[in-house]
Amino acid sequence: MNDSVSRERVLSGMRVTGRLHLGHYHGVLKNWVMLQEKCESFYFVADWHALTTHYEEPGVMERNVWEMVIDWLASGVDPAKATLFIQSRIPQHAELHLLLSMVTPLGWLERVPSFKDQQQKIKGRDLATYGFLGYPVLQSADILIYRASQVPVGEDQIPHIELTREIARRFNRVFGKDAIFEEKAEQALVKLGKKAAGQFRRHRRAWLQEGNADALSQMIALIDKAAGLGDEERERLRGYSEGGGRSILPEPKALLTPASKYPGVDGQKMSKSYDNQINMRDDPDRVANALRTMPTDPARQRRNDPGDPDKCPVWGLHKVYTDSALQQKLAEGCRSAAIGCLDCKKPLVEIMLEEQALLRARAKPYEDDPGEVRRTIDAGCERAMAVAEETMQEVRDVVGTVYR
Ligand code: SF4
Repeated sequence: MNDSVSRERVLSGMRVTGRLHLGHYHGVLKNWVMLQEKCESFYFVADWHALTTHYEEPGVMERNVWEMVIDWLASGVDPAKATLFIQSRIPQHAELHLLLSMVTPLGWLERVPSFKDQQQKIKGRDLATYGFLGYPVLQSADILIYRASQVPVGEDQIPHIELTREIARRFNRVFGKDAIFEEKAEQALVKLGKKAAGQFRRHRRAWLQEGNADALSQMIALIDKAAGLGDEERERLRGYSEGGGRSILPEPKALLTPASKYPGVDGQKMSKSYDNQINMRDDPDRVANALRTMPTDPARQRRNDPGDPDKCPVWGLHKVYTDSALQQKLAEGCRSAAIGCLDCKKPLVEIMLEEQALLRARAKPYEDDPGEVRRTIDAGCERAMAVAEETMQEVRDVVGTVYR
């Protein structure tokens, strides 16, 4: 693992929905498991976010939080590698949300595409609330408080990350310059060593006087390479290199994750709202039965009718689970009617039941000892709070709410 990768910090949250299904597992959680291996990962239960749209059902949350966390653990998310926590246990998120809201123009929020979309889509709820309008600011606070460098998102979430970047930029512009900014930056520069500090100053002149973008990249590379700098000094030097103030809240990047194509048992995208899900820890008989009765290519009315895998909902599952040699064999068998649909589904049933058995086995220690889930979250909250508090001490300092 190289240094630049090891320094990446990733943050991702999940709204409270209760038990998770295989669409969540393949679309989100496997990505979390992969990221925890190479990045410093923070994963959180977004319970306040759930309240922005479901504030009239507070009881649902308590029941669902723990089941959802057990599913995370069952998926292989490892509390020894990632920090798992609950948003509302870290009140610093709310504090930063409030402070960011001071510098966020109303027009930015009204323009967020999901604001109008969701109001139209989610019927029967009054979403003309301050909390719902401001939820992208809360999301920005969630990210910025951990100074996350990357946020895994689907395409539809990219405008939110853009907004987070704009809010961070505005905050840094308004609050990033303290009286002795340059003096402290020069002190940090000394830590690069004489040669690198000299290079940095030359690059800085080239950037500020000639707008040489390469010089800016060279400065960033020098900062990234320097071993003896603390986080605060690193951010100060980044701000100094650009000629602006200190970057107190670094701008995160979107880490685009492909949209999940995991099909539900009716062939549409798997979703609770379509009631077509197989849960991560489902009853094996129910799973097998759901697969056996899953619709196939409508052209295959009888066993002898040839079919087309591209028109068959079951094929979406084969794309997830079976290897290309088997897929080729099954596709030929389907097109020539040499196999029946139950033959085609059989290997899927076997693989998916194996997957379920693994997920259930990983979840079992936590199901048997619910206290362990609570302790895991307590420890994660403690770690998350230490990082969040470190950011907030600096934020309070620059906004002027520290009274000594
Ligand atoms: S044989 Fe397989 S791919 Fe073809 S229609 Fe039946 S289930 Fe679908």
